[in-house]
This record gives sequence, C-alpha cells and structure tokens, in this order.
Amino acid sequence: MQFDRIENVIDIPTIQDKVVTIVGAGGSAPLIENLTRSGVQHLKLVDHDTINDVNISRQGHHPGDIGAFKVDAVAQKIRAINPDATVECYPIDFTTLSDEEIHEVFGETDLFIFATDSFACQARGNIVALLLNTSAIWIGLYAGGLGGEVVFWHSGLDCCYRCLCSSRYEAQKKANEQGESLDPPSDGATIFDIQLLDSIAGHICLGLLTRGSDNRFGRLIDQLGTRQFLQVGISPEFRVNENDVIRKYLGIDENCKPYFAWNTIALSDPRFGDDPCPDCENIRGHEFGDGSGIMLRMKPNPSSP
Ligand SMILES: [Zn+2]
Repeated sequence: MQFDRIENVIDIPTIQDKVVTIVGAGGSAPLIENLTRSGVQHLKLVDHDTINDVNISRQGHHPGDIGAFKVDAVAQKIRAINPDATVECYPIDFTTLSDEEIHEVFGETDLFIFATDSFACQARGNIVALLLNTSAIWIGLYAGGLGGEVVFWHSGLDCCYRCLCSSRYEAQKKANEQGESLDPPSDGATIFDIQLLDSIAGHICLGLLTRGSDNRFGRLIDQLGTRQFLQVGISPEFRVNENDVIRKYLGIDENCKPYFAWNTIALSDPRFGDDPCPDCENIRGHEFGDGSGIMLRMKPNPSSP
C-alpha cells in the first residue's frame, strides 16, 4: 500500500508492526476497513454473528455477504484494500474464552477494540485488557443513536473501564438479578450515527497505536491525559437524565445559537471514577484509598511509553 499522503501524520512503520484485535465486526466494519487504510496490517477479528438482510442498511456489509460470518466478510474487504494484511478470523463468542485461551490466541495484541453493545463482552474485555496489560478501547452507541461514548485505557492510566463505568456495573447487576438486559436496543441508530462515533474512536486507535511519535496522532493520547471517557452528542436531542451534558460540560450558554450537536467532551476521573474497582483490585493489586475517599494513585508503569 502507498501511504505518501498520510505518512506525515501517522507513523506508518510503527502502526504496521502492531497487532489489533477487534471484538465485534458489525457496525465497526467500516472502522476496521479504515484502520487498514491507515496502515494497520495485522488484525484478529472476533464475532460469532452471521450477516443477515437487516445489517445491510448500516453495517458496511453487502447483500452478497448475507449468510457469511461477519468476520469473514470483513477479512475479505481488508485483503482487498491491502493484500499484504494478515487477518485471523474467530467466529466465536469472546465471553466463552478462558484466560488461558485469551493468552494463547490474543497475547500478542497491542490494542483491543471492543465494538459491541453487549455489556458482558465489554466487562470481559476490561478483565482481558488488565490481565494482558494491553491498551483497549470500548465503543458504545446509546439508544436511538442520539449519542455515544468512547472509553480508552492504557497501562499508564489508573482508571480502567470498570472504574470509570462503575454505576453501569451496579445497574447491570440489579438487572441481572431481575433477569433483564440493559444492552441498548440498536434500532434507530443509522450508519451515520455509527460512523460519527467510529471516526472519533479511529482517532483514539491511531493515537494508542502510535503513541509517542512526533506528529499529531503520536501526541493525541498524552494531550488527553486522564480524560479517557469521551462522550459524543450526535443528535441535538441527546440527553443524559434529561440534561444536555455536552452543553453543560462545554459551558455553552443557553442563548448561544451556533451550538448544535456533533460535539465531543472528554471527561476523567474523579468525575466518573470511583474507588479502585474489583477488577483493578483482583488483577492489578491496587491499593485502596487512605479513607479520605481519594484514590491512591499507582506509580506510573516504567515500561509504558
Ligand atoms: Zn478498575
């Protein structure tokens, strides 16, 4: 592949060396293709779903793909873009894999992308990222496609996905006890909603994969610092508990007419954080707070870039 037009902003030799594992190959299909166009060439795809006719309107799959595993259809598109790409397909349920299997199959991963609505899969992904000490990103579209979120973690950050989303774990626990699911219904989200969110996620992916390079993507992750919870307003009707959180955190006056949707806010602990979560405690041996309610920070990992 020819990268002349992007090699001044993406560290191509670095990104070509990286292994990216994507869990969920539905709505993320265009994201995976675009990462390939951006230089990623070692990919592992995990999704046990096959393509059916309702997927065509918004997942980047084609009518000729109907009946195929999503991972196989995406792999074919990756190879069409870059014949040198290596793609491994796993048409399996990620949550059924044991720690040993994860180590064996995904141990060399440099970045996990969890592009799935399934809370069980996102939660398992957090444990896997911590166990392997591997950077990860979680992409979640909210009900109706009105908004969404991108959460990321790397080994230099204290707060993991569970620390940041502790209230979701609590809500999920209660729902499970009542035999309910809180996974958002995906009806009403269009391909434009999905791709707006995926585009922001793509920036974070490039940042995590080339962190430290002397260009804008190489600097991105350190510019964000601990602001690892990105919330995206897609529709002007997006609200969280009836609040226009995007307007609130951006400090936009109610009378400001140019303000609309399509904005991102990048929030951090302690706004969303909590005491070290059970995953951090079990896997990272996190020390708990000193009683003041403030989390004791881990020393920066010397091996992290
Ligand atoms: Zn945690």
